[in-house]
Amino acid sequence: MEKNIKHLDIYELCKQNGVKMTSQRETIAGVINNSKDHPDVEKIYERANKKNNKISLATVYRTVKLFEDAKVIIKHEFKFGEEKARYESVTKWEHNHLIDVISGDVVEFQNPGFEKLSKKIADKMGYKVIGYKLELFGLKEACKKIK
Ligand SMILES: [Zn+2]
Repeated sequence: MEKNIKHLDIYELCKQNGVKMTSQRETIAGVINNSKDHPDVEKIYERANKKNNKISLATVYRTVKLFEDAKVIIKHEFKFGEEKARYESVTKWEHNHLIDVISGDVVEFQNPGFEKLSKKIADKMGYKVIGYKLELFGLKEACKKIK
């Protein structure tokens, strides 16, 4: 994760947005805050359940949905063989993802040049860009040789 990509604190955002926090929700918020790997619901559940074994998979599903609706986390559907939705806390600025198609690792990066270019393209078509999503799917150098 790049240092300059700052993820916002889910717990703080929930408090600001008036989302009622229970101790289980707090635990789940903490797990997502501290996960740098864009985990799916099952991974979030594993980690949250380790901290509090009363937390069920159903609770994690409900809480993730609640956080998503409150716009304090971002849902990603990194489509490249893998169909599971993955989550992360929101960030102040948009950022991009490179997905390793073998390991499923997600690397975050920023690309101001691309942002400028996308604005220029939209501008020419009479649009103002309000958001974009750039996902790169890659293979590590070592794997490239196999191909
Ligand atoms: Zn990210």
